Amino acid sequence: MSDRNSKRRRLFVLALVLVLIVTGGVATSFARGRGETGPTRLNMGGGWVTGVYFPLAGAMSRIVHTEMEGISLTVESSGASVVNSNLIRSGDLDLAIVQNDVASYAYAGRNAFDGNRVENMRGLFSLYPEPVQLVARADAGISSPSDLRGKRVAVGPLGSGAEVNALQVLEAAGLSESDLAAAERLDAGEAADYLRDGRIDAAFFTVAIGAAVISDLAVSQNIRIVPITGSYADRLKAMEDFYASVTIPANTYTNVPEAQTVAVVSIVVGQASLSDSLVYDFITAVFDNINVIHSAHASGRMVTLDTALDGMPIPLHPGAERFFSEKGMR
Ligand code: GLU
Repeated sequence: MSDRNSKRRRLFVLALVLVLIVTGGVATSFARGRGETGPTRLNMGGGWVTGVYFPLAGAMSRIVHTEMEGISLTVESSGASVVNSNLIRSGDLDLAIVQNDVASYAYAGRNAFDGNRVENMRGLFSLYPEPVQLVARADAGISSPSDLRGKRVAVGPLGSGAEVNALQVLEAAGLSESDLAAAERLDAGEAADYLRDGRIDAAFFTVAIGAAVISDLAVSQNIRIVPITGSYADRLKAMEDFYASVTIPANTYTNVPEAQTVAVVSIVVGQASLSDSLVYDFITAVFDNINVIHSAHASGRMVTLDTALDGMPIPLHPGAERFFSEKGMR
């Protein structure tokens, strides 16, 4: 082959590679809902399969399927708030459900996000209050957070908001992980199994009231929700504004007495780069079909337009801004 021919060939290959990169890039950006036209496939980070983010995200996916032509929404289960926020930063998720405290840390680049700001995260709407539920075996001798000293404790799944809250509750009790006999990072279902088998004494779940992970456990095991109240609640509220006191009514879980604890709020967030009309249409579809959310889980009934901006800690996406100003809420 002559020199000229091989040079030409190299140029051709280079051009082909460039075309593939460019068209591939365009196809990806359309496919992920960031282009102006074309088919749109969105994905949403849910949470634990045994939690409440997952069924609610599933309900949103069904709404998108029936109400938004040419758009699909796939739901991914995950450790939840912290990992979802990181996947928003990396561009791997279009939408996600996260706790409002974690969203605020992510946007500001503090706590679990020290030096790793999730600047491209925007708020869409708030869902419901999410209590920090410290579940203990009834016979474990744990009636306040201080009693966790020397116990085996699941401190929330890796990448969860529950873990962030667990560490703050320990701090409010003057404890650190080294004061525990064991600090386990198990996924939510595993933590329930470990409690049932007596391999741990207590587990932290920041999750909506009535989550399957706790209700299923209560059927086969005597458990208590350890109150996080009085000076513990005061210290947590002084540490972070997001905490508010809530009551978990008696018999929410089989034979479990009423307990007071602290709660944060779960919210839906999305990529800043999603188009305004897509976000506007998505929020419109959700609130026009709120019955689908209400029937997906008992706690889904707490999702209402009236409370849809409660506890929103980060700037709204412009599509959300438009939706809520039209409703007279901004
Ligand atoms: N709030 C939990 C977390 O981020 C997830 C709860 C759920 O999946 O329903 O840690």
